[in-house]
Amino acid sequence: MARVQNYINGEFQDALNGATLDNIEPGTGAIYGQLPESDAQDIDLAQTAAQKAFSTWRNTTLEERSAILGRIADLIDEQREPLAKAESRDNGKPLALAMSVDIPRASSNFRFFAQALTQFSSEAHESVGKNTINFTLRHPIGVVGCISPWNLPLYLFTWKIAPALAAGNTVVAKPSELTPVTAHLLAEICQKAGLPAGVLNIVHGNGSSAGQAIVEHPGIKAVSFTGGTKTGAHIASVAAPMFKKLSLELGGKNPNIIFADCDYDKMMATTLKSSFANQGQICLCGSRIFVERDLYASFKTDFVSRVAKLKVGPPSDSVDLGAVISSDHQQKILSYIDQAKAEGGEVLIGGNTVNVPECPNGFYLEPTVIEIKDHHCKVAQEEIFGPVVTLMPFDSEQEVLAMANSVPYGLSASLWTSNIDRSMRFAQQIESGIVWVNTWLNRDLRTPFGGIKASGVGREGGLEALRFFTEPKNICISYQS
Ligand code: NDP
Repeated sequence: MARVQNYINGEFQDALNGATLDNIEPGTGAIYGQLPESDAQDIDLAQTAAQKAFSTWRNTTLEERSAILGRIADLIDEQREPLAKAESRDNGKPLALAMSVDIPRASSNFRFFAQALTQFSSEAHESVGKNTINFTLRHPIGVVGCISPWNLPLYLFTWKIAPALAAGNTVVAKPSELTPVTAHLLAEICQKAGLPAGVLNIVHGNGSSAGQAIVEHPGIKAVSFTGGTKTGAHIASVAAPMFKKLSLELGGKNPNIIFADCDYDKMMATTLKSSFANQGQICLCGSRIFVERDLYASFKTDFVSRVAKLKVGPPSDSVDLGAVISSDHQQKILSYIDQAKAEGGEVLIGGNTVNVPECPNGFYLEPTVIEIKDHHCKVAQEEIFGPVVTLMPFDSEQEVLAMANSVPYGLSASLWTSNIDRSMRFAQQIESGIVWVNTWLNRDLRTPFGGIKASGVGREGGLEALRFFTEPKNICISYQS
């Protein structure tokens, strides 16, 4: 395995305190590497390097900046297979998923923002009749912090880093300590691509020490964070009084609403994915399934029989579900299933760990479908972030809309119907940042991405991300006519 080290000022190094954390492979449950257990000293070193690099990087021509980011994208593509193998091993996700989704998306993130930075523009406002012209500059902020979770490690890490760099900032970034390997490999790629020393600094370690030090550092002027809602609230409580710019992409409890008039086959195939892709560990998974009463019985039978055919096993094999991220997370998911039963839910399929003979200590779980009677139960209100969905019938549009909007979260929603009027009525009234109609996880990188309510503050994606990572300055000139 590649040795995981911090990448600071263009050099690979261990934590200054020499401490390390074990890296556990979810598929086997075994320790298979170490990473630096960095703390505030390492963050300070990284911030100093980033600050030093800022004046040069911000003045690098757009063409040159774009070329470097484009080279990073090309190198990610060239190394798709080793990167996917590393991601699958580190996270537990099926190799095929890492090959087809995670790594291609990481290179798309860099390629997209390499191009977007050459198209980014600002506005001018002529105050007609007042002999005044305003124009707005958009300057990079300075040193910014990027903190990402373990579920889509390189995909989300690059989703933050690429626009931050494209906008001319320098970066101190921390991946989750549970999935550090592809971040380390990205540092090697950036070095090879000619990204100048100090422009991107990657520091590994725990959220409570290394992550917290990023948020607290007075020289880190903005923080882009993706992770749990509780962590996001804590980060906001630290960063807001320091007047840092904050982008918070947090948890979800997304409804998947199925009307009887939908394209049944397409809905069924997509619903299997939106329920269980990445072992259900995607913030956009549709973990609450609501089905119109007329369709409910046949959907339930078909869905359960399709779920029964999903294969769970070692992530390197040809499987539908690999391992969940950790033993703790596996236990947390199981405790939600117990809670659901205690609250009157009926487990239609799944609900148990899976014993994979060649990996007896891996963190495997059956895909689980729970029929519930009350949408207020805990399992239908709180984010589980595992291969567990709830199922419930509905009778009317108003009823399902109220149930869909009853959770604290508001990240995404999926709607299945062939009625265009209904889809518009829903899209208008559903409380979420993203609405998919007859599709799921369909992303155009130009579109705004993010949630409302407890799912976050701010938007990423496209020009929204470049706006977040720049500070507007308006210049007003009065002239004689
Ligand atoms: P966490 O909130 O536990 O951690 C996210 C990141 O924050 C990790 O790098 C973590 O470090 C770090 N962190 C933890 N505490 C602090 C702190 N005090 N200061 C700074 N950084 C800190 O989330 P998970 O990693 O468990 O990810 C799962 C969550 O992410 C789910 O709730 C999911 O919905 C959400 N998510 C949201 C997405 C969105 O776009 N809205 C997309 C993907 C996931 P470490 O892991 O090293 O402790």
